[in-house]
Amino acid sequence: MSDSPRYGVFKFGGSSLRDADRIRRAVDLVAREDDGMQKIVVASAMGGVTDALLESARVALGRTDDFRGHMARLRTRHEMTLRELALPHEFDAISAELGVQFDLVSDLLEGIYLLRECTPRALDSIAGAGERLSIPLVAAAFRAAGYAASEVDSALLVRTDDGFGEAAVDFEVTNAQVQAHFAGVSKSEVSVVTGFRASTDAGVTTTLGRSGSDYTATILAGALGAERIIIWTDVDGVLTADPRLVPEARPMRELHFAEAAELAYFGAKVLHPRTMRPLAERGLPLLIKNTFNPDDPGTRITTTALPEGEAV
Ligand code: ADP
Ligand code: ASP
Ligand code: MG
Repeated sequence: MSDSPRYGVFKFGGSSLRDADRIRRAVDLVAREDDGMQKIVVASAMGGVTDALLESARVALGRTDDFRGHMARLRTRHEMTLRELALPHEFDAISAELGVQFDLVSDLLEGIYLLRECTPRALDSIAGAGERLSIPLVAAAFRAAGYAASEVDSALLVRTDDGFGEAAVDFEVTNAQVQAHFAGVSKSEVSVVTGFRASTDAGVTTTLGRSGSDYTATILAGALGAERIIIWTDVDGVLTADPRLVPEARPMRELHFAEAAELAYFGAKVLHPRTMRPLAERGLPLLIKNTFNPDDPGTRITTTALPEGEAV
């Protein structure tokens, strides 16, 4: 048997990280996984936070409302969640870390307000802050559950061009950076990684496009040849239609990568359209599962599944 490390990548969307209870539920789901695997958790911003950050930028630019009030509410929400999750002796240090991130965003918003200008570059720094704010909470929840857990900013691992808003990944640099980083992490430590965020070769923050944390998860999984890759969300997998429009939509149990990519491309919001790419090339299967119904098998996306229409 080879001793090369085995990796599991588990991504939690904003809906699965909306509050302290849901974050604890995410920790429990990762705790069920095989201990022989090195665990990488990719976290989105807490539910609604990316939208709230983008709205704050819009309000600062238009001077239509009090963006400082918006930021104060976001700060309180993160602080209160941290209070519920963190070990008491960790609270002050993590709260200070959140404060630094909030100050960075507030400075950018003040700049937008004063200049009456919001560049795509500034907007990406603001949009990507939500993930930088959620990982301290998720990592704290893992430590409170008895795990060694560390925070990793994906902006240091995922290299892109400067196509702000939806930047293109440089896989050569990214794969090398991801492999080098995780080779140095001990098997027993849970790495809690930001989704969505990346950076240019000049170190400027970019993002992978809305819902881009799905893509971050598969970029990491592809680079590491992960054995288990789960995108945890709030529905029982990829459904035959958008359940908000078609209540009788049902989950598809097996999908081919090509079909999943086509569905995502044509707007099935459950997956970022580029999610499948890093895995399809290597034939690494992807599971989509429901945080609120974890025993449901969900959807399995593989290179071998027959297209749904051809299943008998
Ligand atoms: P997350 O926060 O986990 O990233 P998203 O809100 O991005 O979750 O995506 C999940 C949502 O996508 C579901 O709650 C569902 O309303 C919506 N959705 C739209 N089309 C589909 C589809 N074909 N299959 C599953 N979910 C879909
Ligand atoms: N937080 C980002 C968004 O809301 C990325 C993600 O959740 O996947 O689009
Ligand atoms: Mg999503």
